Amino acid sequence: MSRALLSLGSNLGDRLAFLQSAVDAVRPAIVAVSSVYETKAWGVEDQPDFLNAVVLVDDPARDHWDWLRTGQAAEQAAERVRELRWGPRTLDVDIVTVDGVRSDDPRLLLPHPGTPERASVLIPWSEIEPDAVLPGHGPVTGLLAARPQDDRDSVRRTSLRLVL
Ligand code: ADP
Ligand code: MG
Repeated sequence: MSRALLSLGSNLGDRLAFLQSAVDAVRPAIVAVSSVYETKAWGVEDQPDFLNAVVLVDDPARDHWDWLRTGQAAEQAAERVRELRWGPRTLDVDIVTVDGVRSDDPRLLLPHPGTPERASVLIPWSEIEPDAVLPGHGPVTGLLAARPQDDRDSVRRTSLRLVL
């Protein structure tokens, strides 16, 4: 119940600092943090590229709602410096999976529904958990192999580092 994978994304302002602020918000519970990846924004043109990372956390005292609240608190702290109302995001924290929890409550869908198509989550996830399985969808490496090459190529590992 307490182990979760969180995905972090930022494409506005000091992107690394915003990812770091989310790491800081969960620090005592961190099991592993991925490298920082840069992902080409697609769909909407003129959007800055995203920095993405995933964090594996474990805290017996927290349930899935606690992880959502923690992520939203970090987003709200980052939103205080948002410049454009409908512009790019300073920080997006998604709860990708929580061990043993499936949910179709729209406030907290688990696993997060976009995950099988999101190379920006699958690539960092497979880095820290090569044998990971997305409940209902299968091994993460298999999901990744099923993505188009240009999708996988749009996610590039950087030398930026998050501090644990
Ligand atoms: P995006 O889908 O681009 O991440 P938002 O971050 O704006 O969009 O979505 C936030 C909304 O999604 C919140 O109202 C939140 O309750 C809901 N939500 C549903 N499932 C999840 C999840 N697994 N992780 C994070 N937010 C979720
Ligand atoms: Mg979100």
